Amino acid sequence: MPNENALKQRSNNSCELCTATNNLSVYPVPPTSDLSAQQCVYICDTCQKQIDGEAELDMNHWRCLNDSMWNQEPAVQVISYRMLHKLSAESWAQDALDMIYMEDDVKTWAEQGIAAEQREGPTRDSNGAELHDGDDVTLIKDLKVKGANFTAKQGTLVRGITLTDNPEHIEGKVNGTRIVLVSAYLKKA
Ligand SMILES: [Zn+2]
Repeated sequence: MPNENALKQRSNNSCELCTATNNLSVYPVPPTSDLSAQQCVYICDTCQKQIDGEAELDMNHWRCLNDSMWNQEPAVQVISYRMLHKLSAESWAQDALDMIYMEDDVKTWAEQGIAAEQREGPTRDSNGAELHDGDDVTLIKDLKVKGANFTAKQGTLVRGITLTDNPEHIEGKVNGTRIVLVSAYLKKA
């Protein structure tokens, strides 16, 4: 483990994601090579448990990413990016992902972690049913379509979807426009 004191100092003794001051510990950001302070973040156990999937994701807790994504430490940017990606069904998280700025090598690091996670598991709809290319799905809630100026209404049928590299997203045509849809907001028709 790296020198905890260096991280304490860097973080001003507070969680580098949510600024909590209790139950802080060093968290190596995978994949790490030397476990130096540059490859670790100093975070609270609330953040850590949700990052590791030991606790349910609390959407409101992660609003802190709107601030932490601007942290100058690459390791903090990487964790923020990955968590925003996990939460990308939320429109505020999508907006943050559109705005986040990272150097190319930092972005590569951030995406390595995401790619590793995505190798797990198929694309599933809101009921956990597996989705395949060519399936028809319906929307289970109104979705504002970014970039296009309309809202896809709940109940809209989307025919012949295409899977993407990301199991959380599929592509389909709504109102004649090809858009990315969040799998969790769909139901197999
Ligand atoms: Zn925290």
